[in-house]
Amino acid sequence: MSNADFFVEPVRETPIINDVDVLVCGGGFAGVAAAVAAARNGASVMLVERYGFLGGLATGALVITTPPLNNGINREIAKRLTEWSSYAPDPARENATADDLIDGADGLLPYDPETTKFEFVRMLMEERVEILFHSYIADTLCTNGHIDGVVIENKAGRSGIRAKFIIDATGDADIAAQSGAPVRTVERPITMMFNMADVDSERALEHLGKWTGLKKFMREAIAKGEIDFDLGVDADFGAPGIFAADLIHKGQLNIWSGMLYSNQSLDPAQRTRAEIVTRDHSFRMANFLKENLPGFENARLEQMSTEVGIRATRNLDGPDVPSKQEISRGEFKDTIARPYLGKSLAVPYRSLLPKNIDNLLVAGRCISAHDDIMGRLRLIPVCSATGEAAGVAATMAVQQDITAQAVDIGQLQAQLTEQGVEL
Ligand SMILES: Cc1cc2nc3c(=O)[nH]c(=O)nc-3n(C[C@H](O)[C@H](O)[C@H](O)COP(=O)(O)OP(=O)(O)OC[C@H]3O[C@@H](n4cnc5c(N)ncnc54)[C@H](O)[C@@H]3O)c2cc1C
Repeated sequence: MSNADFFVEPVRETPIINDVDVLVCGGGFAGVAAAVAAARNGASVMLVERYGFLGGLATGALVITTPPLNNGINREIAKRLTEWSSYAPDPARENATADDLIDGADGLLPYDPETTKFEFVRMLMEERVEILFHSYIADTLCTNGHIDGVVIENKAGRSGIRAKFIIDATGDADIAAQSGAPVRTVERPITMMFNMADVDSERALEHLGKWTGLKKFMREAIAKGEIDFDLGVDADFGAPGIFAADLIHKGQLNIWSGMLYSNQSLDPAQRTRAEIVTRDHSFRMANFLKENLPGFENARLEQMSTEVGIRATRNLDGPDVPSKQEISRGEFKDTIARPYLGKSLAVPYRSLLPKNIDNLLVAGRCISAHDDIMGRLRLIPVCSATGEAAGVAATMAVQQDITAQAVDIGQLQAQLTEQGVEL
């Protein structure tokens, strides 16, 4: 047996299990929007997701609040969720229609993650998108700047999927990195979100005044040493504290448990540590609230997120990285997404485009833009809006047999407008 610190794997033939026009990698808001848009424009589409549900961080990480979903495919998502009373219910406006809620809302609005997972599967099935869950994209096969397909791993072993065009909606720019497109690594604080149920909200509010009072309550307890809590306290993010309360479900709170900094989130060992540390703190915090805060006596820790919430790991470094000012002004000739109706912020096509791969687009929280604007671009409506644009552009490239770089921007914008996106 060799003592070398690596294995040499035998050469093997990997069976190809599918051959599609557009392969969408990752099933978060960006991936779902991309797959639906591509299928509606006539492409055969497969979506591969490592977990057994859709929605990504927005469902699995219990994010559950979003700026208004009111443009393009976001509007459809909001309507579908509203039909299940699962988007921005406002008891003061009981008779409000879906359109009233969608148009009248501002700030962060709650949605229900389980309904979102369910509706996303319905949307994909309605468009005949092939969904493959529990499959991890382990490698991308790329020759001379062209991706031939990806290699997935699952319980059946390794297999290949061939595609004419790939959309990287992994959130981590996995496909871009694997295919050799320039990417940069980024670090953001990471947070475990958890839900508590059966909280007596009236009683808790008598004590706290407002829900934001929980921040102060926790900070004082940490400062006095009443709770052993090593995670970061962040005034801007309001952590630890309540993120949403009583909005979708009475007596249910969505809580941030504090910030973990300097975490190298692409390093599996650091990621493992982050899961352990943040789950431990969430558990401690939930118990502390039960024992010390009136109204929490009968509350229970209902659910922690499927995985710790990692905001960012890698971003694409596209051909011309737009600045914060440019994105905020939103006057690009190649604007393909304007996620906040009535606001100037826009995303250009170049933010989705890799420098050196001719059949790949990136959508969602790992697109190309300067770091100082990524905080806004990672929000949910932007992820789905860039997904929708990527889906349309990919289909155009396939149908016209052209590269991602050759897509006609005017035609792309016209098609997006045609399907209800205000640019
Ligand atoms: C703690 C926290 C709080 C936040 N709060 C808010 C908020 O209040 N409002 C808001 O709008 N946004 C918020 N965000 C940001 C927002 O939730 C995300 O940026 C957004 O949901 C990302 O969507 P996405 O589709 O780009 O990526 P993701 O949701 O990350 O989806 C990527 C998908 O790809 C899959 N995947 C990844 N790699 C592979 C692979 N190799 N093979 C197969 N599948 C793969 C993943 O499982 C996942 O389903 C928050 C984020 C965090 C972490």
